Formats: sequence, C-alpha cells, structure tokens
Amino acid sequence: MREQVLNSVLWQTVLGEIEVSVSPASFKTWFKNTSVLGSEDGHITVGVPNVYAKEQLETKFSKLIMQTLKRHGIKAQKLSYRVRPGSQDITPPPPSSPVSSASAPVRSNYGNLNNRYTLDSFVVGSSNELAYAACQVIAREPGSKYNPIFVYGGVGLGKTHLIQAVGNEIVRRNSNARVEYVTCERFTKEFVAAILSKKSFSNHYRSVDVLIVDDIQFIAGKEKSAEEFFHTFNALHQANKQIIVSSDKPPNAIPALEERLRTRFEWGMTVDIQPPDLETRMAILQTKAKAAQINLGADVIDYLANNIQSNIRELEGALTRVMAYCEMRGVAPNLELVEQLISPSKQPSRHITAKQIVDKTARFFNLTIEELTSPRRAKEIVEPRQIAMYLMRSELRLSFPQISKYVGRSDHTTAMHSVSKIENALIKNQHLRSQVHELKERIYVWKRTWG
Ligand code: ADP
Ligand code: MG
Repeated sequence: MREQVLNSVLWQTVLGEIEVSVSPASFKTWFKNTSVLGSEDGHITVGVPNVYAKEQLETKFSKLIMQTLKRHGIKAQKLSYRVRPGSQDITPPPPSSPVSSASAPVRSNYGNLNNRYTLDSFVVGSSNELAYAACQVIAREPGSKYNPIFVYGGVGLGKTHLIQAVGNEIVRRNSNARVEYVTCERFTKEFVAAILSKKSFSNHYRSVDVLIVDDIQFIAGKEKSAEEFFHTFNALHQANKQIIVSSDKPPNAIPALEERLRTRFEWGMTVDIQPPDLETRMAILQTKAKAAQINLGADVIDYLANNIQSNIRELEGALTRVMAYCEMRGVAPNLELVEQLISPSKQPSRHITAKQIVDKTARFFNLTIEELTSPRRAKEIVEPRQIAMYLMRSELRLSFPQISKYVGRSDHTTAMHSVSKIENALIKNQHLRSQVHELKERIYVWKRTWG
C-alpha cells in the first residue's frame, strides 16, 4: 500500500474502524474526542481531551490503533498521546455529551421533573444503550414510535434518571409540551385521597402530552388505582400522547398485575437496563467526578469501578463518601486513601456461611428451612433450593458434595445439576436475575448488620 499521510480526514476513517471494534462506551469515552496533532517520521501524536483518555489509550488501545493505522498505510513506529492544550486537562468531558443540547437550560422542576436528570448526563454503555437509544427517539418524536415505552431493571441502574431525562429533553425541545412525571406511589396516593375526601379525582394526568410513571410495579394489586390508571392510559394512548413507564421487572413478571394492563404495556417497546459493565462504571465515575469538579486519578477510578459493581447508586455513594472525606480534611483523593475508605471489608462481606444462605433464601421465598432442605419436589420449593445451591457455589465456592449436604441431599449430582440449571437460567431470565440479585443483597446486608 502506498505510504499515506495521517491527516484529520484519515484519522476520522481510522476512528470509524475502531468504533466498530470496541464497545460503544469505550469509543465514546476514550476515542471520540481525539485528533491528530502530529505525524512525523513515523512518530504519531494523538491529541486527547484529558489524562484519563491518555492513560487508557496508552495502556489498552495502542496496539489496536497501530494495527488500524497500518491497514490504512500508516506505519507508526511510535505513538504518543498529548492532552490537548485548551481542553480541561484533568477532568474528562462527560462521555455522553452530544454538544448540541448542552447549553440550553432546562426549566426547573417542570412537571415534577428534576432538571438534574438529562440525557447528556446519562452515561451510555452496553448495559443501557438500547434503553437510551429508544428514549432518544421518543425525546425527538414523542407519541409517534414507541408508545408506550416500558423501561425495566434493578434498583439504582438509572431508570428514574433516564425516563426523567426524556421528559426534560422533550420540554427543552418544545417548551409548550405538557410533560408530567409522577411516581406510581404518588399517583395512587392522590387517587386514594380523592376517594377518601369524596371528591372526584380530577385526573389532570389525562390532559398531558407526555405522562411518565415511575415504578409502575406498585400499581399491581391496587385495584381501583390500577383501573384509574388503565383509563388514563387509554385516553392518552388514543390521543397519541406519549406514555413512559418504568418498573423493576418486565410486565409479564409483575405479580398481580392485571392482564389488561400487562398487554397494554406490551403494546409498545419494552427495554431493560442491566447492571453496568466495568467500562461504563469507569465512565460514570469520570462524569460524576467532573461534574463535582474533583480530580480523580485513573488508579482511583479503576479501584472504585472494580470494587463497586452492583449498581450506579452505590457507585455514586462511594464517590460522595470519598469527596466528603477529602473536602473535610482538605486533601486530594489518592488510591491509598480511597482503599481505606472503600475497602473491600466495607463492601458486602464475602464471609457469609452456607447456613446463612439457606436461611436467607428460605425466608426470601417464604419457606421454612425445613421445607427448603426437605426432599419435596414442589415447584415453589425446588427453584429456591436450586438458587440456594447456586449461591453456595458462586459466593462460597463450596464443593458439590458440601452443597448437597447443606440442602439435605446425599447425592452431589443434584447440586451440580442445580447450579448449572440456575446459571443457564440467569442468562435468559431477567426476572430470575433480579430475584437472585435482590436475594444476594439481602444476604449481605443482613451479614453486615447482624453477622
Ligand atoms: P433507578 O431508578 O433505576 O433505581 P436511578 O435513576 O435513581 O436508578 O439512578 C441512581 C443514581 O445513579 C442516580 O443518581 C442517577 O443519576 C445515577 N445514574 C444511573 N444511571 C446512570 C447513567 N447511565 N449515567 C449517569 N448516572 C446514572
Ligand atoms: Mg427509580
């Protein structure tokens, strides 16, 4: 291939190729705002927006960049990265900021929306990109494409943030749009209050352009409220008004949810948000640190992202703890300090016992320990028992014969079979995933509190 000169156009091509070979989160966070600063005698200098990008590109992506350059006829002997003059050289830009919408202010608390939640400040990774993409579409054309949208996922994963962000974005684009955010709890309370005071429920939710209802799972079993919501839903949907709901589970896994509501939720689009992967956790920490104007080293980010995995709220909590500590003492955060503050021992302790797993699993599923460890094969008992075995394996690394013993079995193949059954089911079954996740949290919380 003919020797090429690396100019900015070619660099964009190279980036385009890199984009398809790394995760979207990585690309957005590390590559997107890079440029070529120099290309001389095989020494290529890439301009990066901040030290995090520099560090990441240096340690993880140099080879990939070199190879991609080579495919385009550029033989780079040396690749170096320089934080671009003029860019904030310490704190990174929010990985997810589309420049266009950054500046316009969002009306504060309009329609109960919290203006802290924006699409810009929502960090996108593989765990939430589908939900994010769907929400972007809705923000552009509410009521036209995905209606309703049903966003579900475990606690602290960004549901409230995302659905409120859509509302804020719609208002930002069209200040006449009537957007209303309400938690399911408040909807129900207002409705019940109206009944109690014998006033008619003047349902202003029926006259909005966009209705956002958070944690809709709580409507299940509340007959009258559910009925009111059902009619609200119909009125809005018929008028092509956008409906956005969130829940901790998919529609078909919400117990006691009326069939007619369930089918309506499934009319439009159902998307889930999964726990964030490592790269997303890192990107989130960077974004939050930047917003708080604190400077975290790449090692600190790395440590936090590796040690707090469960959800984004906890990640934020850890960051807040670090910031509060540093502010009070007037010191800068460094790895040593952060390790002390967020030591693995402050994280859920791994020193739980098999007995605790059996006990907690039984309680979680409203069974007695005797039932869980009995030979009974009723479905309501078999699955919890299998989950307990799975947890003994995944959390404690017990051997199969040991596991069998704790659930009153003598044959260790049952344990093997059970563990792999749950492992496989976890891949396919979101409901099971969130159940196991919640159970695990309870086991560890209990351990921290009492153990
Ligand atoms: P959920 O409603 O799913 O329980 P939240 O939306 O309340 O979760 O999110 C918990 C916290 O984590 C919030 O402060 C939110 O801003 C933050 N958060 C969640 N997901 C993201 C994300 N993708 N990017 C940035 N912040 C996030
Ligand atoms: Mg929420």
